[in-house]
Amino acid sequence: MKGPFPDHSRLKAVASLFDIDPTFLDGLKIPEVLIARRLRLDRDDGTFEYLPSWRCQHSFLLGPAKGGVRFHPKVGEEEVKNLAFLMTLKSALVALPMGGAKGGVQVDPSTLSDKERERLCREWVKAYADYIGPDKDIPAPDMGNGEAEMALFRDEYEMIKGRSVPHIVTGKPPLFGGLKLREGATARGGMRVLETLGTKCGLDIDGMRIAIQGLGKVGGEMARRLGKNGFQIVAVSDSSGCLLNKKGLDVDKLLELKPERGRLSNFKGEMDAEWHDRDVILGVDCDLLVPAATGHQVTKEVAGKVEAKVILELANSAVCDDADKLLAKRGIRVIPDILANAGGVVASYHEWLAGKAGKEVIATIVEQRLDEIIEQASERAWRLHEKSEVDLRVACHALAIRELERVARLRGHSLSN
Ligand code: NAD
Repeated sequence: MKGPFPDHSRLKAVASLFDIDPTFLDGLKIPEVLIARRLRLDRDDGTFEYLPSWRCQHSFLLGPAKGGVRFHPKVGEEEVKNLAFLMTLKSALVALPMGGAKGGVQVDPSTLSDKERERLCREWVKAYADYIGPDKDIPAPDMGNGEAEMALFRDEYEMIKGRSVPHIVTGKPPLFGGLKLREGATARGGMRVLETLGTKCGLDIDGMRIAIQGLGKVGGEMARRLGKNGFQIVAVSDSSGCLLNKKGLDVDKLLELKPERGRLSNFKGEMDAEWHDRDVILGVDCDLLVPAATGHQVTKEVAGKVEAKVILELANSAVCDDADKLLAKRGIRVIPDILANAGGVVASYHEWLAGKAGKEVIATIVEQRLDEIIEQASERAWRLHEKSEVDLRVACHALAIRELERVARLRGHSLSN
């Protein structure tokens, strides 16, 4: 899958805002490390197949690289590079001492039995054990996996190293060194961003109607939080299709039944909702559109049909470059991924710190820090957006890249201006 990386147009806009060293800026287009490994997956029926996989460590400038591992049938090298680059920017934007990384395995996770899933996790760790490490590169969940897989990652790494290394991954189950909040941290951050910037972006928070694309770990939790706060969710979708009820869906009931029923197509004809193709969600009449599925969903063509006033981009790279421009022309604001979904990496950082220090991780303290960090980053981005008349995405990229350049100077990396 081709991604927007390297994003020359935004980097140029960033350079003109802060007079960033051009060679430093150009260097950001190239990841520090990119590894590709063929994985062997033994199926339960005795057959086996080979799967392409990658780990990209985009930058170690701020600290050990950090980022999830995506299990998806269409993930590819360009996408992994793009996502790792965004991780570097995200950590820098919220001033965490971590670099950016991302991994991927080209596999359809819905075809995996529990045993196949376990074998795949162990194969991934075996293939990358020499490249990752608790002070070098710390994986986490992404699309197609979650805390159960992170428990297996930790277990395999510890078997290889012969010692306890709880901070080798984040997003683990709470019983196994994880943070209770971690699964909900990305959505929590998204809520804080919305509370800080929603009204400024022109949303009438009280009467807001919302559509959410993707009901996985992030979208499902966001729907739960929004529903709990009394917001009207008019549409939700997953890879099987879209449920729409203009008067509002009973999200609590839907989320309660979903673990047992699985895909949304199993709710067809229920919930007083119309059933549509999955992409219909992007053009639904609503105030806030929340893409929380995969990348490159809002293309230029889709951007012409978006009815929402604001897009909260919880999924990385959900909005394409050319769509961004058209949305801006149409007066539709995009709150960009590196800010909207940064709550996840903030929580991950605290889980990692606790593992490193051998201390208990206290969810309420992390929640408070997460809220402060996300609010401050949102305010900083808004101030720059207003002062410099750039869109919020360029403002976020600029703040992140200025932070990276400052640290490069502190490290004595001689820059030309
Ligand atoms: P997940 O695998 O738990 O859920 C993905 C959901 O999207 C599923 O409901 C799936 O059916 C749906 N989906 C996939 N393709 C779709 C399509 N074309 N249309 C509609 N729905 C579709 O993944 P997740 O962890 O919730 O991640 C979602 C997004 O959030 C990803 O882009 C990820 O990079 C980003 N993100 C996740 C985290 C995290 O903590 N998990 C943190 C930051 C960013």
